[in-house]
Amino acid sequence: MTEKTLADWQQAAADIRIDGRAFINGRRVDAASGQTRTTYNPATGQALAEVANCAPADADEAVRIARETFEQGTWAGMPAAERKMVLVRWAELIEQHADELALLETLDVGKPIADTVNVDVPSSVRTIRWTGEAIDKVYDQISPTRDNCMGLITRLPLGVVAAIVPWNFPLSTTAWKLAPALATGNSVILKPASNTPLTALRIADLATQAGLPDGVLHVLPGPGGSLGEHIATHMGIDGLTFTGSTPVGKQLMVYSGQSNLKRVFLELGGKSPNIVFPDADIDKAASAAALAVYYNGGQTCTAGTRLIVHESIHDTFIEKVIEAASGWAPGNPLDPATAMGPMVDKGQCDTVAEYVAIGRDEGAKLVAGGGTVMEDTGGHYHEPTIFAGVNNQMRIAQEEIFGPVLAVIPFSTESEAVAIANDSIYGLAGAVWSQNINTAHRVAEQVRVGTMGINNYFGGDITVPFGGFKESGNGRDKSMHAFDDYTELKTTWLEFD
Ligand code: NAP
Repeated sequence: MTEKTLADWQQAAADIRIDGRAFINGRRVDAASGQTRTTYNPATGQALAEVANCAPADADEAVRIARETFEQGTWAGMPAAERKMVLVRWAELIEQHADELALLETLDVGKPIADTVNVDVPSSVRTIRWTGEAIDKVYDQISPTRDNCMGLITRLPLGVVAAIVPWNFPLSTTAWKLAPALATGNSVILKPASNTPLTALRIADLATQAGLPDGVLHVLPGPGGSLGEHIATHMGIDGLTFTGSTPVGKQLMVYSGQSNLKRVFLELGGKSPNIVFPDADIDKAASAAALAVYYNGGQTCTAGTRLIVHESIHDTFIEKVIEAASGWAPGNPLDPATAMGPMVDKGQCDTVAEYVAIGRDEGAKLVAGGGTVMEDTGGHYHEPTIFAGVNNQMRIAQEEIFGPVLAVIPFSTESEAVAIANDSIYGLAGAVWSQNINTAHRVAEQVRVGTMGINNYFGGDITVPFGGFKESGNGRDKSMHAFDDYTELKTTWLEFD
């Protein structure tokens, strides 16, 4: 909840002035072509902003400046303790602009204002502050060599790093990428999703205000298919960090191979298993099962979309999840009481509806929701939906829907639960619910995912790494491990008499 009321946020939305220009070399500029693209508020379908539609020529200019700045060493050569202070000041400025950023994110993505105020903005502040504070505590190494020589192992920034991010958590994902990339001394080109560029642009202004030298950071809104591809194939970019879908992630690795073998780190899709044993705290598990799939309208890479429930509690557990789902009825995202807002756009809402039809055709049993609602708002809202009687071979159990659709799959033995959980091309996240620590640990260890909750869903914070196994990706955001994605290891071998 926020202290402001719906009326307060509506007034703030009416008053807000949005600058959709690109951010190049420390200042806001139009795309070189002068072209703009209209973005829309998913809650109303109304036009929200005119945003610079950057093209390859803009990327070339940004890369040229980023390279020059990197080589001059204005940022990369700055002592870590000073880079730290810039990031800490940046975090403070973001905190001071928290309401403005939360509102921008809600208008852009359709996320409930209670989430953007309480989760997206504060977690982004913490990411930048924590990462900034960490950077002057990282030591290099000396290897255990023979006498009269010394092997120095040092970390160096990659150089010019590109970050391409999606629309579902624009601010948090941007913070996950920018904080370690900048902390380690790189110059960065960020391409936000075409739908949702506003908070990334705004925090770039604040980075300059915090003392980030001009030329280090550039934010280029523009289409994935042309601008994104140009960035991914650019010979002047040394590293590419990406969060988005698995098909695009695969393509980026191809682009890297076709260009300069830039380092590519990927955070991709998921179809995460949430396993419930009969000895679990059933009420807590049912409430968390709803949160796991309906938070952010299911537009979450780690969403717990496969609920794998022991057959002995299957029917009663589903009843409890249906009850919990009623607390996720869609509403106006500017209302502080709303738990779930609209889908990000009509295309995403249509995709969800298509998967509901697929589930029905496959023979799964629709036990809650299943329809679009609130059409009179002009927005794209979908009910929280539950399918029972799902088997793991169905498309609704294998494919990432990216909407509020839960597939409930029964199991009889522990090994069967693990086999179902692992029978997926994805390996991003999951959870297991059991009061028996042996069962919980055994299962958690065997499920092949990057983050596993025991008796919780969506656990974790900036202190732990985040990323996927299998086709969910290969990089790690957050924690000190994130520094690995933005640095090269260099050996300097010294011999002396
Ligand atoms: P997407 O279609 O893959 O787009 C992600 C970004 O890539 C956008 O900025 C997009 O630009 C750009 N892009 C698209 N095609 C490109 C190309 N050929 N070359 C270079 N860039 C290209 O994903 P999305 O629909 O925005 O996001 C949802 C996906 O992200 C889901 O699969 C979700 O699971 C995943 N995700 C993963 C994580 C994680 O940490 N593992 C976190 C959040 C989301 P445009 O916007 O212009 O298309």
